[in-house]
Amino acid sequence: MSEKRYEKGPGKGPEKGPEKEPTRETARILVVGGGYVGMYTALRLQKKLKPELRSGAARIVVITPDPYMTYQPFLPEAAAGSISPRHVVVPLRRVLGQCDVIVGEVKTVDHARRTATYTTLAARQEGAEPATLTYDELVLAPGSVSRTLPVPGLADHGIGFKTVEEAVGLRNHVIGQLDIASSTRDPAVRDAALTFVFVGGGYAGVEALGELEDMARYAARFYHNITADDLKWVLVEASDRILPEVGPEMGKYTIRELRGRNVDVRLKTRLESCENRVAVLSDGSRFPTRTVVWTAGVKPNPLLAATDLPLTDRGRLKCTARLTVDGAPGAWSAGDTAAVPDVTADQDGAHCAPNAQHALRQARTLGDNIAASLRGEPLVDYAHAYAGSVASLGLHKGVAHVYGRKLKGYPAWFMHRVYHLSRVPTLNRKARVLAEWTLSGLFKREIVSLGSLENPRAEFELAAGGVPPAGPSGDAPGGTPKGSS
Ligand SMILES: Cc1cc2nc3c(=O)[nH]c(=O)nc-3n(C[C@H](O)[C@H](O)[C@H](O)COP(=O)(O)OP(=O)(O)OC[C@H]3O[C@@H](n4cnc5c(N)ncnc54)[C@H](O)[C@@H]3O)c2cc1C
Repeated sequence: MSEKRYEKGPGKGPEKGPEKEPTRETARILVVGGGYVGMYTALRLQKKLKPELRSGAARIVVITPDPYMTYQPFLPEAAAGSISPRHVVVPLRRVLGQCDVIVGEVKTVDHARRTATYTTLAARQEGAEPATLTYDELVLAPGSVSRTLPVPGLADHGIGFKTVEEAVGLRNHVIGQLDIASSTRDPAVRDAALTFVFVGGGYAGVEALGELEDMARYAARFYHNITADDLKWVLVEASDRILPEVGPEMGKYTIRELRGRNVDVRLKTRLESCENRVAVLSDGSRFPTRTVVWTAGVKPNPLLAATDLPLTDRGRLKCTARLTVDGAPGAWSAGDTAAVPDVTADQDGAHCAPNAQHALRQARTLGDNIAASLRGEPLVDYAHAYAGSVASLGLHKGVAHVYGRKLKGYPAWFMHRVYHLSRVPTLNRKARVLAEWTLSGLFKREIVSLGSLENPRAEFELAAGGVPPAGPSGDAPGGTPKGSS
């Protein structure tokens, strides 16, 4: 490592003990985001920069809103109860022992000055101004956010499917709706409770619907007055296909499979409104419902607009194949945030798709390139031809198109599990997920709703004579009435 490379301008890092205080010679690497790219890049840097981290010549700071990385491909299984929520997340402090993990949110980046501002939970509670942090190398990886449209009622009644909280909330909500339907005498309430509308036919929407439908179908057996046929599942997709990730043929198979399960798949259709708990579609149909799940794509994180870095027309960071931000030395990116040229594509100007497959591999190249750059060594291009995709459609059901091979049903589902078990980070998580799958093969599924967990003080407040806070009403996903389980 060249000492000279580490002689960067002054600056102050986050508050830490004196032994780790950065010096003028310390290369400060700021990683924004603790998802796929953030976590895997930091892991790679921990490995590649071991001597520098030990000697204090390099320091890595990770800023992310949650102290864990979410393995998003397992969210549908978490919603179905096949994997417990704790096991679809990886605790960052445990795996990033050589990094400083700050739970906070980066608000702005001024790369010309090599500074970023960020808020923490404590600062927000105290009403403090965002703190400023100076860095030498920036890895900007805040991922994407749900792409919403101004659909009336959506903000009040919809729920996304990107976080573990949403997955768990949705599971509790769906089971809660069965409880509501089972206990009402009003046919309109029952009908709305048993109608579930999903908007968006990509990975997230199809897998979430597939897993939840399967779970609810099973749960219905335990209700004396609900049968699986009473449940109405609607998938609304604006284009003429679903699951583009597995190709047209497997996409058509998925539609047949879902329709075979009585799922109402509507192509070339949009959600126009969901006010007053009625989902109105562009084909004129209306579904009274208490559940609208919005998974109609993602858009780049709004943080990107609060930086001085170059963006593409679609709002992603303009990057090179070396994962540097174009024309901004010292700035790096990958994953959903970055428009990275796909050097394996036949046509010019193609970019890597925003998915986990690229995010994970790009993060490794990114870590290697940052280490190489600090040492004055040459950088390498990121090159990975898309291998295809696997998707789960419920227990023992799936679809896959990988390396030209098309699989459906049980073999695809099995491949989905093997693939994701091999990919979920850390041996600890792999062992726990495998144990859960094995146990759920031996015992029956859990069908209980713990929506009341979202309002843990309600019972005590009632006992103490207070008025319980306006808790989850069971109307909006993410909450069910207490005692509904
Ligand atoms: C339900 C679901 C299923 C999926 N299934 C698949 C699949 O089967 N296969 C596949 O290839 N892809 C799948 N994907 C897509 C895949 O998960 C994403 O492409 C991948 O997570 C992108 O990685 P990333 O690091 O760019 O973003 P993320 O993993 O989303 O990480 C972004 C991180 O940045 C943090 N952050 C956000 N804002 C800030 C801020 N202001 N300051 C600091 N930190 C911030 C976030 O909290 C998060 O930790 C799925 C996605 C979903 C939602």
